[in-house]
Amino acid sequence: MWHDPLDIIWRAADNPRSVFAAEDLDGMPPQIRTRLTQLEILRPSSTATHVVCDACFDHHVEKVTPIQYPDKTTRFFIHCPENGRVEVPRERLFQWTVHFGPILTGLATALSAKGSPAEIVPGRVWNLGRAALAGKSKPVWVARGLAWPDAGQLAQSIPKGRSPVLFYLGQAADDGLLGIPRESIIELRTVVHLDGSIVVDRDAIEVQLVDVEAPPSKRQQKKQSPRDATVGALKRELHERILSMKSAIRSADDTGSLFDLPRVTQKQLAAAIKVSESSVTRAINESGDRELEIMLQTIESENLIRKYSR
Ligand SMILES: [Zn+2]
Repeated sequence: MWHDPLDIIWRAADNPRSVFAAEDLDGMPPQIRTRLTQLEILRPSSTATHVVCDACFDHHVEKVTPIQYPDKTTRFFIHCPENGRVEVPRERLFQWTVHFGPILTGLATALSAKGSPAEIVPGRVWNLGRAALAGKSKPVWVARGLAWPDAGQLAQSIPKGRSPVLFYLGQAADDGLLGIPRESIIELRTVVHLDGSIVVDRDAIEVQLVDVEAPPSKRQQKKQSPRDATVGALKRELHERILSMKSAIRSADDTGSLFDLPRVTQKQLAAAIKVSESSVTRAINESGDRELEIMLQTIESENLIRKYSR
């Protein structure tokens, strides 16, 4: 369950509360908890005043009563209608808050960002300064909660245009919310991992950003063959489908249900982009377009869809 040691961070990213109970950390290896605490990503918070009863199967929430003993120790109890007084181990009352600061500092350091980092909207928007990326000096920004109800308002504090690079925490923004090319919007969890300390995959970021630098006017000037047009339309269609599956997978995760990956056929794609099935087959078999190949592999794999970040 804890395959990604930073899983708790990514869960906190889309949770406005960001306070986790001891149960939420169940199964996290102790060395990971220690490391995250040392890095100050995980910080102890106030102790819980209420817990879920674990003595019966009713999952009722009860107020915790501390009782001082003559030997100066304190023990904690709740009342269970079925079992009467139930002792709660102290560890169950521990709560944790998640802090993104150390990860953002790790990102700024990995990108050798210059300038003074600033929190523009508390807990939501950060300006990390400028960094040399894909051969250009680019403003680097981070935003969290771009799918929350106030995302429209939040977007106003983020710069627009071809220059900025935006890393986001939590779910992706709706298309068109941010006036930034898609290639410049990167999901933070796809480029950061924990390996003793915070490690940032700078190469992956560079590769993604190179695309932004190809001026769109040049692309349009090149005369497009019908097959290239089909490839372009296929990629746009696949992109939309992958993003919607990705969001369906996330919702399934949130509700704890299983996601049944639908099979996408060439016939369906042909109908969606309004060309013949044979044009789609030709475009797929003959174009040699690497990106198209990757997208076709992605749409068949739940795992690759999860990692998709364009
Ligand atoms: Zn009970």
